[in-house]
Amino acid sequence: MKKDTIALHYGYDNKSCEGTMSVPIYQTTAYAFEDAKYAADLFDLKVEGSIYTRLNNPTTDIFEKRFAEYEGGVGAIATSSGMAAIFNCIVNVAEAGDNILISDKLYGGTVTLCTHTLKRFGIEARIFDADNATNLEELINEKSKCIIFESLSNPQIAIPDIQKIVSIAKKYRILTICDNTVASAALFNPIRCGVDIVVHSTSKYTTGQGTALGGIIVESEDMPNIIKNNDRYYHFNEPDISYHGFVFSDIKNPFVSRVRLCVIRDIGSAPSPFNSWLLLQGLETIGIRMEKHSKNALAVAKFLESHPKIKKVSYPGLKSSKYYEKSQKYFKNGLCSGLLSFEAESFEAAKKIMNSTEIFSIVVNIGDSKSIITHPASTTHQQLSKRELQEAGISPSLIRLSVGLEDSDDLIEDLNKALEG
Ligand SMILES: *Cc1c(COP(=O)(O)O)cnc(C)c1O
Repeated sequence: MKKDTIALHYGYDNKSCEGTMSVPIYQTTAYAFEDAKYAADLFDLKVEGSIYTRLNNPTTDIFEKRFAEYEGGVGAIATSSGMAAIFNCIVNVAEAGDNILISDKLYGGTVTLCTHTLKRFGIEARIFDADNATNLEELINEKSKCIIFESLSNPQIAIPDIQKIVSIAKKYRILTICDNTVASAALFNPIRCGVDIVVHSTSKYTTGQGTALGGIIVESEDMPNIIKNNDRYYHFNEPDISYHGFVFSDIKNPFVSRVRLCVIRDIGSAPSPFNSWLLLQGLETIGIRMEKHSKNALAVAKFLESHPKIKKVSYPGLKSSKYYEKSQKYFKNGLCSGLLSFEAESFEAAKKIMNSTEIFSIVVNIGDSKSIITHPASTTHQQLSKRELQEAGISPSLIRLSVGLEDSDDLIEDLNKALEG
């Protein structure tokens, strides 16, 4: 099946559910077992079926299977939010005394998670330069458990040297985790570039209309080869006393299975079946939406670039962008999604623009069908220190746009008026 067909059909057979065309919502906490033996077999993974909605749910299961296939992976687990997906991924491999290698260009929540919250758990974050991966190799030691980066970073809108990161990771047999939220699974599939694990905040382009919070973790087919007999991941290769003595490297989809059966079992960040259903609706149209988001964003970026009151525009689809070549190399048809940022003349000018747009709403979100304007320094990245802001490339006059699906003429006119005003 090709991707556009997968997005609509994969993993659901309407003949199994009274012919309902829309995937049913199994709004239930638990499931009745036929008998005690069936229950035991379920827990032992000898048969497939639902146990309890914290672990699995038929609606969520279809979303997971469909998303995994759409991303080019073999297994997935959905979570209650994007942050939950990232946290679950990290604690699935790292423990106190370990370190993780993180890109210098990441979502604000991921930065605080890695550098503050996980630090309190004894996990050290080592920051590498994602543009060229120049210092990545020297940060790696035997305690390094994963390399985390974003394919298209929020809010810098930067594209890392994915090929180089992956080749270093393979040399040391370290897992790579790519947050593909902004690029979206429609425009880029990191697993095809050799990435091991892909995470998304499905709250953004997957739901597409700002209706549901969610996250997902997808694993590649190659996972068992990396984990098996790899001392770095000793806990996947020894019997897990917390789960029936299972050796996770021996079972199907070892990474997401361990997230499901150990991490989410204990942490509980499972999605609601209703949100999984909303995310399935979003996935159906993600392909055509991402094309329009990208075309609109390019039109807006070109307009802003030509405006005398704008100091700088960052959009990887612009020829002037230092990420232009990478965007054309990695992303489908060179389409670059709907996120762009620009620098106004000053902090005051930025605030004035924010307050003057009518179609763009001031919202701390991205990937909605409706256009959004944000001021990272005072909102999403407010918790970062001045130095951290500078390191993350966020100046006080930086404005970020999430360009929606409106007519691009209207969006340009809205910004033009705000700039004149
Ligand atoms: C929004 C976002 C997250 C966090 O996702 P939530 O669903 O809000 O928890 C993580 N990474 C990126 C790149 C994001 O844009």
